[in-house]
Amino acid sequence: MRDDLPRARKRLGQHFLTDPRILARIADALELTGTETVVEIGPGRGALTEHLLDRAGRVVAVELDRDLVPYLREKFPGRPLEVVEGDVLERPLAALTGGEEFVLAGNVPYYITTPILFHALVPPRARRAVYLVQREVAERVVAVAGAEEYGALSVNVQALANPRIMFRVPAGAFSPPPKVESAVLRVDPRPDPAIAPEEERPFRELVQAAFGLRRKQMRRVVRTIGDTTAERADEILAAAGIDAEARPETLTVEQFAALARAMR
Ligand code: SAM
Repeated sequence: MRDDLPRARKRLGQHFLTDPRILARIADALELTGTETVVEIGPGRGALTEHLLDRAGRVVAVELDRDLVPYLREKFPGRPLEVVEGDVLERPLAALTGGEEFVLAGNVPYYITTPILFHALVPPRARRAVYLVQREVAERVVAVAGAEEYGALSVNVQALANPRIMFRVPAGAFSPPPKVESAVLRVDPRPDPAIAPEEERPFRELVQAAFGLRRKQMRRVVRTIGDTTAERADEILAAAGIDAEARPETLTVEQFAALARAMR
């Protein structure tokens, strides 16, 4: 039977989860109501898809591997599953559901985890999301100011959402096993986002640029990014309530938001 399965392509980050208890726990972490539409990233051989179908009104799964697409379409006859062939990064997620509200799930390909997490921040966003990712990436997403793992990914996600690590998954739960440990990450939109929709793009650019200079003091960071003088940089930082000698890695999400506003 296993011989009929399309073979795993490492190039596409294909590590298939086989432990049914872990798969059920991932689907449970999404707390589906039974009627919601789920967008699934990278369904692979449909292991998680099956658990999602049991809990959702409809599943739209986007898979890049064209050999897996016909396999998936045949695997769940009569179930409310649509399999879309393509690169998830090239499609606005909301377009996959035809504009319907959605929740997001994915045992994502690890070679593009960070781009996927950023892609999912583009509105209209999921009502909530559950991802299986490298443990190290999950720790970066939830890291707080001052922590070693804190960076642009932490700030950008936390400005819009509350992320939390639900549980860890050992490499041995996959076939073939990846080289790293994994963790299940849940991301819920913040009721009080730190930035307004029209500020999202400049905020993202500012945060990326600041962490590109993470060892520099904020006076230097603002001078460089804003192409301005030290005096003007000090004024901007004072307006944002930020110490000119602090470093980007110590700034909280709310301080980055205040800085983005002061720089405008
Ligand atoms: N969900 C399955 C499971 O739990 O066993 C498979 C997970 S596997 C880690 C990641 C899946 O994402 C693979 O099936 C791979 O082909 C697919 N994939 C890789 N790159 C992709 C992309 N850019 N867009 C959509 N799917 C992609």
